[in-house]
Amino acid sequence: MKPASARSSEASIASGGDPLPPYATMSDPHRSDFANVTRRLLILFALAAGLAAACWLTYSLAWKNGVDTLRRNAAVRAERTASALKSTLERYESLPYLLAEHPIVQDVLIDPNPANVERANLYLEDLNRHARATVTYIISLDGYCVAASNWRGPGSFVGAGYQFRPYFVDAVKGGVGRFFGIGTISQAPGYYISQPVRRDGKIVGVAVVKLDLEWFQGVDASEPLVVTDDHGVIFLSSVPAWKYHTIRPLPGQIADSIYQARQYAQQPIEPLPVTVERMLEGNAQILRVGGGRSAPRYLASRHGMGEPDWHLITMSPVDPVDADARKATIVTGFGYVSLVLLAFYWRMRRARVREMMRSRALLQKAYAELNQRVAERTADLSEANEQLHKEVAERTRAEQELRAAHDELIQTSKLAALGQMAAGITHELNQPLAALRSFSDNTRVLLERGDQASARENLEAIAVLTERMGKITNQLKLFVGRARPRSARASIVRALRNVVALLQKRLQGVELEFVLIDAAADTVDAAADGARKPLNLADDHPELVASCDDLRLEQVLINLLGNALDATTGMSPPRITIEVEAGDANLSIAVGDNGPGIPDDVLPRLFEPFFTTKEMGQGLGLGLAISSSIARDCGGSLVARNAPHGGASFVLTLRRARVQASPSHDPLTAGS
Ligand code: ADP
Repeated sequence: MKPASARSSEASIASGGDPLPPYATMSDPHRSDFANVTRRLLILFALAAGLAAACWLTYSLAWKNGVDTLRRNAAVRAERTASALKSTLERYESLPYLLAEHPIVQDVLIDPNPANVERANLYLEDLNRHARATVTYIISLDGYCVAASNWRGPGSFVGAGYQFRPYFVDAVKGGVGRFFGIGTISQAPGYYISQPVRRDGKIVGVAVVKLDLEWFQGVDASEPLVVTDDHGVIFLSSVPAWKYHTIRPLPGQIADSIYQARQYAQQPIEPLPVTVERMLEGNAQILRVGGGRSAPRYLASRHGMGEPDWHLITMSPVDPVDADARKATIVTGFGYVSLVLLAFYWRMRRARVREMMRSRALLQKAYAELNQRVAERTADLSEANEQLHKEVAERTRAEQELRAAHDELIQTSKLAALGQMAAGITHELNQPLAALRSFSDNTRVLLERGDQASARENLEAIAVLTERMGKITNQLKLFVGRARPRSARASIVRALRNVVALLQKRLQGVELEFVLIDAAADTVDAAADGARKPLNLADDHPELVASCDDLRLEQVLINLLGNALDATTGMSPPRITIEVEAGDANLSIAVGDNGPGIPDDVLPRLFEPFFTTKEMGQGLGLGLAISSSIARDCGGSLVARNAPHGGASFVLTLRRARVQASPSHDPLTAGS
């Protein structure tokens, strides 16, 4: 299977397009990091811009609202104050006219004799008191006061000259004079209204009423209120310090005319220290009164009063509006930040929930995969288990078959041995049978002759012969194996005795030596001849009993002895040594010969079934395999080696059986 990239490039070549460059298919981590950072910075910038915009908008709106409210309140206040001022002025507007029409006034102007003057003074005094004006007085055409309501007091106007006063000039010209100024005598500010006094249509003097407007100073000083004249000079103010200042610089000639008219006495008219910060529509502006940034800020709204040409200016402090706008801005800022944080929190929460859902889905998927894998693995295991069961059954069956084959082999081997033995026995029996025939023929002749003694001798010989024949057949019966129940104890000496008896014929001419090695002797002695002594098979040796079936032991010994006989054929003289050694727990029987020994290539294969070096018909190659299997069955072992001084040696080791008190039973003798 090809990798995906190889497949995709093949596909694009096949379709006629250029293969994609490798970087186009890979995501660049640095680039995505950079994009992420840029995106976050942009979001941050947008949020900051949003915050600034929201704050600015709130501040602007709040400030505008506050200023609008201020303007509305100021307009109401200005309206109220202006109408109060106007009604005051209007109330006295007709008083000089009525005065000018009065004959006493006209008389004193035409003829200012003391009597007329006194009458006029009294009249003016009385009128002034009733009209509640400040001062009422009459000026002759030459500009001097002829009579006044305050004629009695020290500050009497009588005799004072008013030629320079605009209200006098206006009235002399036939008009109505209106003027605000500081009194030349009283030094008190006041509003002057004048009318020409006519007699027979001719102006003979001027009647003047002065009003005190000082009540104006009593208005609320926290929201200053000022009234300026047509030149912009503040002559009424709720803040006394601002009085007689201009709101704009005075041109020189105007300043001169004011000075000439002694309108505001002789004091200099200074401009009010005003810094205009912002012009608003409709005669309004934001300004500071006083120097420096800490000077109070006001919203100044100008309202015209018509006649006289005065202006009422309301000054509303803007600082509270600023403070309110700031508060609203802070609240908005907080609200905005809270909303952003809430949005962030909500976004993070959503991301977390999404992440959780994804993790859960992944977990479920992994769980499902795990379940599937477990199921697959379980299925595999079940299959393996089933296979194992089958194999176990197969093995058991094979083992049973092997065991059966093994038993079969043993049986076959027995039959083979039996064949050999039968030949031997036939040979052995033929001779005594022939002797029996000749003895019986002889005995019959002797009996016919009456030679009783010879006949008895013959019968005795016949008895010996039959006994010998019985022994031979008994051996055959033994070898078949099922002639009697098997014993789990085998006397080594008896087994050797039986085997030697069985192979008696083949052993003729062979030096056969039986040795008993004393294992209890010192190891140094053991090597010496002192530890070895001849083993007499005629002795019982009840201590030499192995834990093994006696017939099987004999079968092994027949094999070993038979092989030794085969190996020593042709040796002069053939020699076989059988060494029996009894240990604490084990017994060993070593069958050694002076044959050619076992070649190195043969040694490892000796115990293989059907392995033989003998010629066809001479050996089956089963003897050692069966013998070794018997040794194992009995809990022992069979090993082969070459002896140091030449020849082969086979050592059979068996477990030692416990010694029994009962007398031994020799099957050979018992069976005869
Ligand atoms: P068989 O005697 O029928 O060949 P065995 O299993 O008894 O089968 O012996 C197998 C082989 O072991 C023999 O063919 C022989 O080569 C070898 N062998 C057995 N005993 C001896 C011995 N004492 N000396 C030399 N070779 C031996």
